[in-house]
Amino acid sequence: MSINYPEFKPLAHLPTPFRLLERLTDEFDGPRIWIKCDDQTGCSLTGNKVRKLEFLVAEAISENADVLVTCGGLQSNHCRATAIAAAQHGLQSHLILRGDFESYKEGNLLLDYLVGAKCSFYSSREYLERLQDIFTEVSRDYQSSGKACYLMPTGGSNATGMWGYIRASEELRADFVQNNIEPEYVVVSTGSGGTQAGLTLGFHLLKQATQVVGVAACDNKRYFSSKIQSDVAEWCEKYAAGDQGVLGHEGLNIETWDDYIGPGYAKSYPELLEFIRWMARLEGVILDPVYSGKAFYGLVSQLRKGRFKDCKDIVFVHTGGIYGLFPFAKSLVTESH
Ligand SMILES: *Cc1c(COP(=O)(O)O)cnc(C)c1O
Repeated sequence: MSINYPEFKPLAHLPTPFRLLERLTDEFDGPRIWIKCDDQTGCSLTGNKVRKLEFLVAEAISENADVLVTCGGLQSNHCRATAIAAAQHGLQSHLILRGDFESYKEGNLLLDYLVGAKCSFYSSREYLERLQDIFTEVSRDYQSSGKACYLMPTGGSNATGMWGYIRASEELRADFVQNNIEPEYVVVSTGSGGTQAGLTLGFHLLKQATQVVGVAACDNKRYFSSKIQSDVAEWCEKYAAGDQGVLGHEGLNIETWDDYIGPGYAKSYPELLEFIRWMARLEGVILDPVYSGKAFYGLVSQLRKGRFKDCKDIVFVHTGGIYGLFPFAKSLVTESH
C-alpha cells in the first residue's frame, strides 16, 4: 500500500546509512548483523527524535504555535532535539526537566541552554506526581502573555510523532530491497515507545514480515504492550478515521525485552560499560549507556545464547544518544581501560 503522510518539516538527513557489521557478524555462528544509523540523522540535531519532530514541528507551525513545550530527564535527547528544532524554525522552547540543574550542566543540557531553551526543573517526586499540572501551568503562563504553546509528551511519542518511524519503516524496507535481504528481526531501544510503535505499525501497513523487538530502557513488557496499543489506537482515531480495521484481525505483534535495564533507567552496570567499549573498538559504533547500549547489549547477549541461530539477517536500529554519553565519562574511561 502507499502511505499518505501528513505534512512534515525536513529536519533529518535522510536516508540514514545502512550497513553490515562484518566483524561483529564474524564473532557469532549466526545471522548477519546490520545497522541502521539513525544516530546519523544529523550532528547536533541527532538521533531518533529528529524523525518524530519532522511531523511534530510541522503540526505546531500549522497550529500557529509560538512555543514548543515538552518534558524529560535532565539529559533528555528528546528535549535537546526539540530545543534545537525550535531554534531552527524561529520558535521558542520550554523544557520541563526532571532533576537538579546543578548536577550536569553538560551534554544535552548544555545544548538546551546554548539554543536558548527555557528550562524549569522539578524533583523526581514532583515531576512524577504533577507532570500534567506542570504542563497546564506552563502553557497558561505563556497564554497570559499572548503566546500559544504546542505540547509534546515524553519522547514526542504520540500519534503525530509516530509518523517519523512509520516513514523510517519505508526507508528500512528500501534498505532491505537494496541489500537483497528479508531480515527476521529489527531490534531497537524503547523508552517512551514511539519508535517501537511507529516501526511495528509501519511494517504492518507495508506487510513487511519483519518482527520489531523493543529493548526496554525502563518500565516492563506489559507497560510497552499497553503503551504501544494506546498510541496506535490514538493514531487510528486521528489518521484512519477511527478505523482499527487497518490493523487486521490479528492486530499488531508487539515484542519487548525487559531484561537489560539493569539497576534502572539511565543507570549503568559493568557488563554494559564493557560492552560499549568493546563495540566502539570492534566496529567504531558509539553507543550510549541509557538507550542504544542497553539495546545492543541485549541483542548481543541473545546472539551469544544462540537465540537467532536459524535467522539470516538481523537489523539493529541505532537511535543515537551521543550527548547522553558524556555524563558517564568517569565510569567509561578509567586508567585500566
Ligand atoms: C528516546 C530515545 C530512545 C527511545 O525511543 P522512544 O521512541 O522514546 O521509545 C532510544 N534511544 C535514544 C538514544 C533515545 O534518545
